[in-house]
Amino acid sequence: MTLEVVRVPVLSDNYVWLVHDAASGETAVVDPAVAEPVLEAAAARGWRIGQILNTHWHPDHVGGNAAIVAATGARVIAPQGEQARIGTADRWVGEGDSVMIGAHRGRVLDVPGHTAGHIAYVFDDAGALFCGDTLFAMGCGRLFEGTPDQMFASLAKLMALPDATAVYCAHEYTASNGRFALTVEPGNAALADRMAEVVALRERGEATVPSTIALERATNPFTRARSVDEFAARRAGKDAFRG
Ligand code: ZN
Ligand code: FE
Repeated sequence: MTLEVVRVPVLSDNYVWLVHDAASGETAVVDPAVAEPVLEAAAARGWRIGQILNTHWHPDHVGGNAAIVAATGARVIAPQGEQARIGTADRWVGEGDSVMIGAHRGRVLDVPGHTAGHIAYVFDDAGALFCGDTLFAMGCGRLFEGTPDQMFASLAKLMALPDATAVYCAHEYTASNGRFALTVEPGNAALADRMAEVVALRERGEATVPSTIALERATNPFTRARSVDEFAARRAGKDAFRG
């Protein structure tokens, strides 16, 4: 039994994820930046949003909360480390807590670095990771509130998940990430192959997400850094990268 996951592209490059369990009829939404397109995508499928799962406080991840609650009465589940920034939620969660979509259990992982209280949700039985702005396809989030040590540890925690786990990140940053990745590892054949696919997808206006843990292990210069220092140097390099 698996979860059905629908990508809702919003704003310039955000992906909101609708997650539906057919067995129970339950639907959750991860990181609604805005409400309208998300409500429309759910309505088009006859789904009722019962829960909102937030990964961190940034407006492009929680901006649609209030309007979705007003329209559906959904419960908001949000990171306990960011109560002061998010303000209202029905439940605050952190490492070791679980959320449920029907019979599917989503484990909460603390993955600080992009923000101080950033969390991820992993549904082991469905092989699905919702990681917000921590891990991107061939990239990772900027360190707005955390340290390189924290992000290095957060990425290592995600890389311990099974190879086939789908990585549902919150932005379409893949092409830019890949151009930077090629400057770091010009000889990485898996990376070169992936970039060719990504370029072709983007030329057709198609999404490159979700990724998988196996792909990120093979091609992501941030998860492939062998030390905190190497990670920090790559993150600083990406921050300055214009390409
Ligand atoms: Zn963010
Ligand atoms: Fe974001």
